[in-house]
Amino acid sequence: MIELIALKCLRCETPIPAAPDEIAWVCQRCGQGLLLDEVKGVSSQAFNFAAGIPQGKRGNPFWVVGGNLRLNRQTYGAFGKKDDEAAQFWVTPRRFFIPAFTCDLETTVNLGTALLRDPPHLAPGTPVPFLPITVHPQDIFPLAEFIVVAIEAERKDSLREISFTLELRAAELWVLP
Ligand SMILES: [Zn+2]
Repeated sequence: MIELIALKCLRCETPIPAAPDEIAWVCQRCGQGLLLDEVKGVSSQAFNFAAGIPQGKRGNPFWVVGGNLRLNRQTYGAFGKKDDEAAQFWVTPRRFFIPAFTCDLETTVNLGTALLRDPPHLAPGTPVPFLPITVHPQDIFPLAEFIVVAIEAERKDSLREISFTLELRAAELWVLP
């Protein structure tokens, strides 16, 4: 059964032209940010737009979330162990950037690892059009876990096993260049 939900802006009741799979919008009339949840329906969602998005180009939406990681890694053999390097890396809280637009897992992990290692400066800019948002906040945690595993696997040692506890703070939605 297909259930059609009439999506309307929470503030001004303007209908939202929603494409299939899209879950978040900015009302074209009043600027209200909106997020669709299957259970809770439509709720308000804060949107942040970064400076530096070229005119005429659509921005890339990301879920941006600070996280703390407690890591336990085991390697084969004692040579070239990167445990200290890993511990040093995660001693600082890190910011995860999870693509909120449609892309495959490999792209999500590649972008996520690159942006975690070298985070962009988030300077607020003006609202611009952006790629459709299709990644729900509930997917942030498992995708962040994929990024942690990718970062640890890329250290040039014989990683045998990894376990970790990841704590994420509240996610913000940012539209980036
Ligand atoms: Zn509105």
